[in-house]
Amino acid sequence: METLILDGKLVAQAIKNELKEKTFILKRDKTITPGLALLLVGDNPASKVYVNSKAKSCEELGFMSIIFELPANTSEEKVLKIIDEWNNNPLIHGILVQLPLPKQISENKVIEAISPLKDVDGFHPINVGKLVLGLNGFVPCTPAGIIEIMKFYNINPSKKNVVVIGRSNIVGKPMLNLLYQKKEWSNATVTICHTGTENLHYYTQNADIVIAAMGYPQFLKSEHLKEGAVVIDVGINRIEDNSKKSGYRLVGDVDYDDCLPKCSAITPVPGGVGPLTIAMLMSNTFKSANSEIN
Ligand code: NAD
Repeated sequence: METLILDGKLVAQAIKNELKEKTFILKRDKTITPGLALLLVGDNPASKVYVNSKAKSCEELGFMSIIFELPANTSEEKVLKIIDEWNNNPLIHGILVQLPLPKQISENKVIEAISPLKDVDGFHPINVGKLVLGLNGFVPCTPAGIIEIMKFYNINPSKKNVVVIGRSNIVGKPMLNLLYQKKEWSNATVTICHTGTENLHYYTQNADIVIAAMGYPQFLKSEHLKEGAVVIDVGINRIEDNSKKSGYRLVGDVDYDDCLPKCSAITPVPGGVGPLTIAMLMSNTFKSANSEIN
């Protein structure tokens, strides 16, 4: 049986193409331009790259975006003031504060200061609560993107055993909450594994779908899997590679080469889950502009 490689770039492009068309119509018929405000505090190079690529996607789709860059010693008060201004600016439909923040600024306070109606990252407790209850709110981008990959390739989690490895607020927990709802493209039996899990193999070997988000390079091996499992790799890790000009390469949390022959489908890294994260951010911003979230 040949393993299906789940092409995240293809899925993300399809989502962005559709959004571009819908944005054109929104602008033409309602004179609304989706607007995303991005806040970057400090000079973390990876954060800079992420923020710039989010702004670039906005441009591609015809959205308006602004980037506000502040030095690492910025006070919490200043950040909260900017968020308050953006909350009250009708041209801004989505607010994203790039994490992590410098330690003098409380991430929780900042997340809670963003209006739940502009919280396109889906991290505000109101949106977390809506997700748990199965109500219409903003869903965190990476887990939402994983559901889109499944839909695109017709991998329905309904009635399946799904193991999510990792319990972070941005990946593991929202992934869990998306998968057990009594809804289409959900309805799975979900197990969440984490650092407190003893005998991980026991759970993963019974899983039809394994979603790996533990932040350890090439951790998941074929011995963890049952024959024919679907493997979704969320991990993005840099490992040393002297054959590359940069001196490193990106790998996931899954040992891809080892797992590939045993899986029925697998996401590569890069080019799997990664591209979906920005596509879903764009989708959330569009929904906000189009008043689809209330
Ligand atoms: P995190 O460090 O916040 O959480 C990792 C989780 O994995 C923890 O809850 C921990 O309990 C669990 N864990 C760690 N070691 C484990 C083990 N040996 N067995 C079982 N569970 C274990 O990480 P995160 O923010 O959720 O990110 C996870 C990975 O996904 C990282 O590699 C990150 O870079 C990547 N990521 C990718 C995207 C994307 O767009 N593709 C987005 C977010 C995160």
